[in-house]
Amino acid sequence: MQHNIPVEQCGPLGPKMADAISKCVHCGFCLAACPTYQELGQETDSPRGRIVLMREVLEGTLTPQQVLPHIDPCLGCLACEPACPSGVPYRDLISPFRSMTESKRKRPFIERIRRMLVRNTLPYPERFRLAALTGRSFKPIAAIMPAAFKPMFELLPERLPPKQTWLETYTAMGQRRARVALLIGCAQRVLDPDINTATIEVLIKNGVEVVVPQSQTCCGALSWHGGDHRLARHFAEQILQAFPTDIDAIVTNAAGCGSALHEYELILKGTTHEQQAHDFSERACDVSVFLDQLGNLTPIRDSGRKLRVAYHDACHLANAQGITSQPRKLLRMIPGVEVLEIANSHSCCGSAGTYNIDQPQIASSLGTQKAMNVIALQPDVVATGNIGCITQLNFHLQKNHSSIPVRHTMQLVRDAYRPLESNPLQG
Ligand code: SF4
Ligand code: SF4
Repeated sequence: MQHNIPVEQCGPLGPKMADAISKCVHCGFCLAACPTYQELGQETDSPRGRIVLMREVLEGTLTPQQVLPHIDPCLGCLACEPACPSGVPYRDLISPFRSMTESKRKRPFIERIRRMLVRNTLPYPERFRLAALTGRSFKPIAAIMPAAFKPMFELLPERLPPKQTWLETYTAMGQRRARVALLIGCAQRVLDPDINTATIEVLIKNGVEVVVPQSQTCCGALSWHGGDHRLARHFAEQILQAFPTDIDAIVTNAAGCGSALHEYELILKGTTHEQQAHDFSERACDVSVFLDQLGNLTPIRDSGRKLRVAYHDACHLANAQGITSQPRKLLRMIPGVEVLEIANSHSCCGSAGTYNIDQPQIASSLGTQKAMNVIALQPDVVATGNIGCITQLNFHLQKNHSSIPVRHTMQLVRDAYRPLESNPLQG
């Protein structure tokens, strides 16, 4: 797509945005893959339509206010990327564009308060824990709250698991095969800390020494994907400082975080940390990819139990990082597991960072569709690789009167490794 963007006036991210726009040939192959186009049915709410709108703003022929009603509903799910034959890197456009326009927009007062609350709690585990514990008392009256706050309270789980902390280092069992540093996430640490414990258990069981950098902060994914470049840059710099370099890989178990770690070079473009960010991203990978590459995994004993597992592809694993086969392979390593495919699996569940708070109507529709597709399979459990998806799926399954549990892939693998007497998979 031709453009007349004054790239030099668009800051360090300008060339990347202009490059993404120039790659689009307007063919429309991405439309069928886009959940918001399916929901809203308008060209302006499709990837192709949004690319045109963003180009117009960058060229100065439209104002941000004119296009943001169509940019805001974008999930950032990146389903448009694998569907695009021209290889348009939509991610290089959407987050930078959101950051660029954030300072120019005027949000309603109540929305500003909600964003301020999210921005100051979610990335900080201690604050988020306190906010979640307090917020739960308001759940019964969520229905009568202002619409802007309702989803925040509705999505809070009925109970929070006890707080967990982790040691600085976990020694590998048997001969050491690798040494990794684990990103433990921020919201995940509060909502389901056992995911980190399970990840550590599986790694050490397979001869991997695990370092948990104690000074690590939020990775910046929520800020970056939500249009707060300044905060994302701050968190990225903190993470670069906190993580050691004498390791084989930086391992993450949350799709959204993993996706952001691979965008550090873009987030820190034009700063003195650009090269360091590049090197960091090269070594970052999802735990399923790390284990797959490690190979020769410790076999799991057969408990004799059959387990039907519906695997949910988190968008930031499948679309953003191209990771689909590795988690399925890990699950199939468990004797007796049958991996089931959820209908319309490429479609987002509506979680998408804070999307289910920012755009509750579309998020709810997508969440309901996903829950119904899961219920149709009647699996014993749903497995996925992202805490946001786990929260969203749990909420919509329960709302649709289903008690099908949703767990992280690493929790299922860890449980299967445990001795039979303490194996939660044992009937
Ligand atoms: S990121 Fe997702 S919602 Fe946004 S345009 Fe692409 S496919 Fe559509
Ligand atoms: S599929 Fe790719 S090239 Fe075609 S319209 Fe969509 S983004 Fe543009």
